Amino acid sequence: MSTRKPYVGGNWKMNLKQDSAGALARGVVDSCEPWQGSVDIAVFPALPYLLSVHSIIRSHATTIAVGSQDVYHEDDGAFTGEVSCAMVADCGCKSVLAGHSERRHVIGETNAQVNLKVRAAIEADLDVVLCVGETLEQREAGQTDTVNAQQVREGLAEVGQRQMDRVVIAYEPVWAIGTGKTATPEDAQDAHAKIRGLVGEIYNPDVAERVRIIYGGSVKPSNAASLFGQPDIDGGLIGGASLKVEDFAAIVRAAAEG
Ligand code: PEP
Repeated sequence: MSTRKPYVGGNWKMNLKQDSAGALARGVVDSCEPWQGSVDIAVFPALPYLLSVHSIIRSHATTIAVGSQDVYHEDDGAFTGEVSCAMVADCGCKSVLAGHSERRHVIGETNAQVNLKVRAAIEADLDVVLCVGETLEQREAGQTDTVNAQQVREGLAEVGQRQMDRVVIAYEPVWAIGTGKTATPEDAQDAHAKIRGLVGEIYNPDVAERVRIIYGGSVKPSNAASLFGQPDIDGGLIGGASLKVEDFAAIVRAAAEG
């Protein structure tokens, strides 16, 4: 049986305002309290609300972490509109997402840019959730494994073995994100097992055994248990359902019991 601690992240995307983000943060703290010791829980609010969400979370003696949905890889300078790892850390962040599919496919981020973010986050002592996954066209063309492998290899380029303790990998098939379509537990398990095997090839079996690989793509209370019951699925990155306190708490509970 795996000794990996489950990880559940709530990606709030470009949703909510100051008051509603604060209310959601308070709700998550209260409702996830029973599982905060057994599951690593993080919430990823929009950038303007990092500080206020962090101050709510900090005032509640909880292990729930606040993370940023994105960062820029440079430390500071003339990069209008961008935000550095040090800045989000200064706002209380412990974690960042890198390479979320909306950044790759809506904004146009490349594997090389994602890798710069992964390395900058680790250098800044932040945990990083590296998101990978195939589009529908790639899946239909039988390219799922090669796309995942390329995104994992290039995303982790020059990341050292010891730095892998800072990394969680999120397998998020693009066609399942925000669409209501979910990979079957068996298909997701297959992709996770292959990613874990690849981490073993890049590093070694010990790193592969330790790294958390979480699933994202329309996870809901009704499908969380069957996904998290798979041997290589160590939790989830949750979009839509993370905006509803009861749904997010039910998913965290499924991860604790998975
Ligand atoms: C996500 O934002 O990473 C995600 C998986 O979204 P959803 O749960 O809405 O599909």
